[in-house]
Amino acid sequence: MPTSSPSETLLIALGGNALIRKGQAGTIREQFANLKIPTRQIARLSRRNRIIITHGNGPQVGNLLLQQECCDAVPRLPLEILVAQTQGQIGYMIESTLDTALMELGVHSRQPFITVISYVVVNEKDPAFENPTKPIGPVLTEAQAADSPFPTRLTAKGYRRVVASPRPVTVVEKREIRKLIDMGFIVICCGGGGIPVTREGRSFNGVDAVIDKDLVSAVLAKEIRADRFIIATDVPGAAIHFNTPQQIDLQAVTVEEMETHLRDGHFPPGTMQPKIEAALAFVRQGGKEAVITSLDAIEDAVRGCAGTRITAE
Ligand code: ADP
Ligand code: MG
Repeated sequence: MPTSSPSETLLIALGGNALIRKGQAGTIREQFANLKIPTRQIARLSRRNRIIITHGNGPQVGNLLLQQECCDAVPRLPLEILVAQTQGQIGYMIESTLDTALMELGVHSRQPFITVISYVVVNEKDPAFENPTKPIGPVLTEAQAADSPFPTRLTAKGYRRVVASPRPVTVVEKREIRKLIDMGFIVICCGGGGIPVTREGRSFNGVDAVIDKDLVSAVLAKEIRADRFIIATDVPGAAIHFNTPQQIDLQAVTVEEMETHLRDGHFPPGTMQPKIEAALAFVRQGGKEAVITSLDAIEDAVRGCAGTRITAE
């Protein structure tokens, strides 16, 4: 249990690269090793704060989809089921790495944490269903992309398969998640952006899509009233004129300034744009601060000395 009364509720969103780094094949050994970097920091932060962890699943869900398509001996599973599978697999990996990190810190009583399978409601008329933007699975060569029967796009990492990414409306389990946080649990939820569902009366139907984990994290942060929102990825922060000789790394930025950079087209869809939109949404709705930072600087970002920090003024 935390040593002192928790000061703040932190929502930490881990990028897909928390598990698989650029250029890695993504073996389970590599994924467990990579997870030590954020989880050691989260373990230390959990002594003084309430913690919610969300995470991406782009590489993992794309790999599962590819595995479906490589085998005709068993029925293929739709994307919604694969998203649910990644919530289980990644939730387990975060829990077990976090448990080790807490033991390394000398916390011998088992810290209560829990992974919540999460549904996220989307609008069935969302135009995103007609225009796939979310990159998933491995990086393809230009020739593989040209031959692919599925839509592909050139992303910062190279060519990748893309699927529909509708906007998240609400997290179905928000009340349960809030209760678990209030009880002192570290909660891992909304994995892979959540299982995308549409509402039909009192029931939910899964749909073929992958919701952006940054956008759903902003929705969740509002619904459970988080104080601080940390988006951990593979760059030190957001930049304008990214990847050009004029690149400027952004440090402390107001909502108004960031809105201008967003309008000026500095952040591409599918990668940095959703992070910026999520950060802006969080601060506009009353959150203290949103930070975009690298996975090895989560603690520094919480202390206010790393990353791109977005505040109301
Ligand atoms: P995650 O898995 O953490 O969500 P993404 O690949 O979706 O990571 O987004 C992070 C990537 O966004 C970085 O690796 C970087 O290449 C890219 N990127 C695009 N535009 C920018 C920008 N303006 N500033 C910083 N990074 C950017
Ligand atoms: Mg992303």
